[in-house]
Amino acid sequence: MTQKTPKHGLQTRIVQPADQLTPGFESFSVPVARASTVVFPDLAAMRTLDWRNDAQWRYGLHATPTSITLAQRLAALEGGNHALLQPSGLSSISNVYFGLVKSGDDVLIPDNVYSPNRDHAEWLAKDFGISARYYDPLIGAGIADLIQPNTKLIWLEAPGSVTMEVSDIPAITAVARARGVITAIDNTWSAGLTFRPFDHGVDISMQALTKYQSGGSDVLMGATITVDRDLHLKLKLARMRMGIGVSSDDCSLILRSLPSMKVRFEQHDKSALELAKWLKTRREIAAVLHPALPDCPGHAFYKRDFTGAGGLFSVVFNERYTPVQIDTFCESLELFSLGWSWGGAQSLAMPYNVASMRTESQWPHRGTLVRFYVGLEDEADLRADIERCLAALAA
Ligand SMILES: *Cc1c(COP(=O)(O)O)cnc(C)c1O
Repeated sequence: MTQKTPKHGLQTRIVQPADQLTPGFESFSVPVARASTVVFPDLAAMRTLDWRNDAQWRYGLHATPTSITLAQRLAALEGGNHALLQPSGLSSISNVYFGLVKSGDDVLIPDNVYSPNRDHAEWLAKDFGISARYYDPLIGAGIADLIQPNTKLIWLEAPGSVTMEVSDIPAITAVARARGVITAIDNTWSAGLTFRPFDHGVDISMQALTKYQSGGSDVLMGATITVDRDLHLKLKLARMRMGIGVSSDDCSLILRSLPSMKVRFEQHDKSALELAKWLKTRREIAAVLHPALPDCPGHAFYKRDFTGAGGLFSVVFNERYTPVQIDTFCESLELFSLGWSWGGAQSLAMPYNVASMRTESQWPHRGTLVRFYVGLEDEADLRADIERCLAALAA
């Protein structure tokens, strides 16, 4: 697909993409193409296959018309030229590592990174001979002091999906570009809707499609999106060698949800921001870590670089409440379930012991952090639920 109508707004282009998979069959849905074998018209066609050519069908593992359609729509959405799909967000992270880093190389990772990314890096450091070092997410241009001749990759994540610091991404990418280091952002929080990484000098955007793109809490998938073809091919080669593929059935579920993603996201944003502002007024809460509110470190960068927030934010409770009391608070909520992931219709809450999650930067708070994911329920009901449990806490 090429983006044939750049004059249309983002939402129009998401709802009415320019691709046409089955000419003559006018349906709004994308057919599910299931395949392992892909039949070649003749042996010459098989022998002249080039793995670099995204337009050739080779084997169901690598691409089907359904998966390519999803990949192309995601790339268009974020302003990239190429996208690869992986069977989870974490496998997209892994694809970035194995595509770009070899033994002897060094990687810089924000201290507030998605924890399984840190665990992956620690594994590579222990068993595969790379070095993984962590930086304060608010380091900005100071990243220059950490770059070594063997530094090959800088991860970015803004905001961090638990502690919500917003990095000065253009400052970091400007240094990285000048020093020839590739940058990859975990852009899951913004869904690619409210932060445009390629406008800020980022080389790779990684998405957990499991979240807003799916919207149903029922699919796992991830994507890596690039502007640059050589970078795309490096990731594509690693993906091929590791045998990574996705199911067309799963792709079709995400294709079904994608047109409504922006309106869902905006509703999550609206309810979450109202709840966050209200929580700020409660004496049980020491800090509200919502990038759109001034308490959040990096708020100024959010205001400069982002156009919206979605449903995920955190609060820090007053330190007089013990972790056990906060556990009880979370378990007492009726409308917020306890569970990983987010991006679906249902609200979630989860306590975190942040001090145990970072190594490089000081965590300034003493109270327990609770992350809320605000779903699509009535905001007044969610507020009443939290209020009831805050009252029980204070009693
Ligand atoms: C959920 C998530 C991932 C991983 O996605 P999975 O599909 O669950 O593997 C990566 N990064 C962030 C920020 C996430 O929230």
